[in-house]
Amino acid sequence: MQHEFTIQVSPEIASNPEQLKQMISSKNSIPIDEIRYVEIVKRSIDARQKAIKVNLKLKVYVQEDFIGQPIELPDYPEVTNAPEIIIIGAGPAGLFAALRCIELGCKPIVLERGKDVRTRRRDLKAINRDHIVNEDSNYCFGEGGAGTYSDGKLYTRSKKRGDVHRILELLVGFGATDQILVEAHPHIGTNKLPEIISTIREKIIERGGEVHFETRVVDFEIKNSEVKGVTLLDGSTIATNKVIIATGHSARDIFELLYQKKIVIEAKPFALGVRVEHSQQLIDQIQYSCTTRGPYLPPSPYSIVKQVRGRGMYSFCMCPGGVIAPCATNPGEVVTNGWSPSKRDQSTANSGIVVELKLEDFKAFEEYGPLSAMYFQKSIEQKAWEVGGKSQRVPAQRLVDLVEGKLSNDLPNTSYKPGLTSVDMGQVFPEFIHRTLQSGFKQFDQRMKGYLTNEAVVHAPESRTSSPVRIPRDWKTLQHVQIKGLYPCGEGAGYAGGIISAAIDGEKCAEACAATII
Ligand SMILES: Cc1cc2nc3c(=O)[nH]c(=O)nc-3n(C[C@H](O)[C@H](O)[C@H](O)COP(=O)(O)OP(=O)(O)OC[C@H]3O[C@@H](n4cnc5c(N)ncnc54)[C@H](O)[C@@H]3O)c2cc1C
Repeated sequence: MQHEFTIQVSPEIASNPEQLKQMISSKNSIPIDEIRYVEIVKRSIDARQKAIKVNLKLKVYVQEDFIGQPIELPDYPEVTNAPEIIIIGAGPAGLFAALRCIELGCKPIVLERGKDVRTRRRDLKAINRDHIVNEDSNYCFGEGGAGTYSDGKLYTRSKKRGDVHRILELLVGFGATDQILVEAHPHIGTNKLPEIISTIREKIIERGGEVHFETRVVDFEIKNSEVKGVTLLDGSTIATNKVIIATGHSARDIFELLYQKKIVIEAKPFALGVRVEHSQQLIDQIQYSCTTRGPYLPPSPYSIVKQVRGRGMYSFCMCPGGVIAPCATNPGEVVTNGWSPSKRDQSTANSGIVVELKLEDFKAFEEYGPLSAMYFQKSIEQKAWEVGGKSQRVPAQRLVDLVEGKLSNDLPNTSYKPGLTSVDMGQVFPEFIHRTLQSGFKQFDQRMKGYLTNEAVVHAPESRTSSPVRIPRDWKTLQHVQIKGLYPCGEGAGYAGGIISAAIDGEKCAEACAATII
């Protein structure tokens, strides 16, 4: 017989199956020798009180054996000779679109400007060590897309739990730990993601799909408002009338191309700010109300949202035990973001702290029409490059100095490898962002006492939080509002934000596209 319980226990009991069993036995008057197995179905940490608790949803097997069901991948059919769908971009949206195409009996042909996940590492080394930005292979471009070398956080604001669960199960099927199905805030980690991504690619190819690396799409052939083909950087063309465009939030050349071709796109508000780094120990102390984190607790994350000077200011993509990375996609700009290994065991914690932007903020760039938000974003990244020393050295400031408007006399080493240049953030940001950050950090300290410390360092800018452009699509057919056969997909099109929602959107676009063929 199976019983379901929801309980709250100490972190120690939560991590010890025997103690957990004993507790369930005594609290529910079930003889201990009748409990054959305790399965943790869901786990979350409640750190609101001084005594930290773990919420567990359990399935208890009483006089019944537990037969674990391995997660099985769908039965992907052979699609070598099936109708073809072109997918531009091998990020989560493109890869999950490709898998879904196969499931539905279509042949995906994935065109990716970057390199395969293993070769891509060399270019990451080059940007970190030699400040060389390869515009096709970097932290945003290449197999697996922008999230490959990330924290691999897998939570999303999507309310469609069924869709989220399906993507998580697929990730487990492709090699992720099944704990991502249990944790309330699952993550995978930079060291584990590449293997999962290459397993997905191998499956696509094994079933007859194609994946082409170092294959940048530079043009679309459009006739009578219908897509007829795509042109590649080498000048060759592929004739097709089905294109899923999943090129991500950083594909500025694609946004420019669509604009030049008079294909409807829209400026989209996004958020922008800094990436702040504290010691993980300090974040643990604040969040867990302790001097040293106990052995049964993970490095603590945090999440904070405030209304400051009429705008939202909030933490974004927080990486416990993580590292700040140089995420520029073009020479002449500086961009930050963060990643963590699966154990989140680095001594530092970083988070984007960003300010909500509104369409009227891009007024100075209105000559660029729907690209105004993108040009605003680009101008700040270029400014950071200039004042940082015209390299991947990042403009940085101690946190209290930022709030007090003082240039930092010195800077401690941080996890950002290419190096720091001491800069007053007023030199990087327009005044309204600078002032909002200054006021907002004071408010953050009221919520998280000790957060505002001069041992913390801000790095600027955190600017690729979401796409500055939307490629609008019909809500029903998911085709572009003007161009038949073109399916704007994922984060770059403005329909996702994060790995999971991009993957969900990839599946949706594949379904809509396949429905017109099969
Ligand atoms: C360092 C970092 C850490 C992150 N951490 C997390 C996290 O922990 N959790 C989370 O949910 N999200 C995270 N994100 C965000 C997440 O990566 C994105 O939301 C997600 O990858 C978007 O998926 P996508 O498929 O829509 O686009 P992308 O992942 O951006 O993929 C687009 C792909 O298209 C390719 N492409 C672009 N132009 C062309 C062209 N012209 N021709 C051919 N190919 C092209 C690119 O090379 C790229 O591979 C992080 C991002 C970064 C940069």
